[in-house]
Amino acid sequence: MGQGSSKREIDKGMRLYSEQKPEAAINEWKSALRRMTKKEKLPVKFNTLNYLCMAYFDTGKYREVLACANQQLEMLNSKTMCNNADFMQEAYFNLARGYEKLSEFKKSISYAKSCIEREDNNENAKAIKSFATVCLAKAYHGLSDFYNAINNFDSVVNKTETSPSVHMKFLVYESLGQLFAKLRDYDTAHLYYDKCLDIVQQDAATLTKYKRRIQSQIALPMLHMGRFNDAMEYCETSMKDAMLRADRPVQARCLFTFAEIHRKRKDFERSFPRYESAYSLFVEMGDRLNQVEVLGGMAKCMAALRDFEQAIEINHKALQLAEEIGNKVGLLDCNVRLAELYVITGNTFVGHQCEDNVSRLTAELELFCGVCGESMGQIPEHLDKLPCGHLIHSKCTPHLSRYTWGRKGRKRPCPSCRNRSSGNPVLSR
Ligand SMILES: [Zn+2]
Ligand SMILES: [Zn+2]
Repeated sequence: MGQGSSKREIDKGMRLYSEQKPEAAINEWKSALRRMTKKEKLPVKFNTLNYLCMAYFDTGKYREVLACANQQLEMLNSKTMCNNADFMQEAYFNLARGYEKLSEFKKSISYAKSCIEREDNNENAKAIKSFATVCLAKAYHGLSDFYNAINNFDSVVNKTETSPSVHMKFLVYESLGQLFAKLRDYDTAHLYYDKCLDIVQQDAATLTKYKRRIQSQIALPMLHMGRFNDAMEYCETSMKDAMLRADRPVQARCLFTFAEIHRKRKDFERSFPRYESAYSLFVEMGDRLNQVEVLGGMAKCMAALRDFEQAIEINHKALQLAEEIGNKVGLLDCNVRLAELYVITGNTFVGHQCEDNVSRLTAELELFCGVCGESMGQIPEHLDKLPCGHLIHSKCTPHLSRYTWGRKGRKRPCPSCRNRSSGNPVLSR
């Protein structure tokens, strides 16, 4: 009897999930799991945990994702299941993306790599491998390793043997949008988000949850382009939908963008409480990378209100978090703001220490254009992505596309690659 009713609950959960009611689906699946006896076939139990991971992920319950994935691992270690390697890969994938969202980037990288190293002898294994590569790239991005992030994103969309699914393209373009937004190249970020919007519009039925997600993100580059009203409109639509669907990650993202819009309009009374709401949601979810970003906005508010003491305190809080998770760009931004604040408040000694940190971090991040040698990512500027994964200023690209003297028909190599090795990886192609 127990088996029949758990099957019914699993199906009901699926139906609720497809109707975008993830919380109700979670309740069905949890109750189905409780009902399962020891005799229940293990793959059924394993897959129910997979469904739960999916819904927990959508609602921002990342710690629960890890709990389910660990339960899956336990099952695999205690019993011999058929196709053990397939199941193992799925459990590792759930761990990889759970850790990525919780900003445990090194753990995420190691689980993602375990997924990818697997032989892909069937379609499902291949698909998971691609998803795990996106996850790996996102974790590199979390550590501000832009070169490895770009290389992995590109490897997913440039696969020659199979063309990537729309779903996969969406995930990669979305992540590249985030990467360029982080480097303050808002034009390129907008371009990638726009590609995502196109994908969502083409396949509206299956990609509904992605629509609000991309609307909440495209608002940010719009804001930086001075399109306040458009940004507001996208954010409002996205927020409404996210509230209906218990989508906490998108709610938090919208609140953050609302705060940014109000701050840019110098309406700090509206801005600050929205940062606070976004912050508490990100704390609830355990998303520390976004906490760093929100704290940065709060600190800017305080500095604009000339409450320098508060601004310094909030920046230190952000700095500590960025340090914990190994997010170097976050550390860099905090030090830039602190250097200025300490100089304003007369503490030039500490101010200079922060400036030294800025130089050190910029060097560690290798955020220099290989052509002109100037820094990248500090001011809004158009950047270009080279085939090797290195970035240069768009204004410096014409220099690279000129032919090299005496080597007619051959493009100049990427300056960063040439400096790294004695060979010419781009030239030799
Ligand atoms: Zn340059
Ligand atoms: Zn290069």
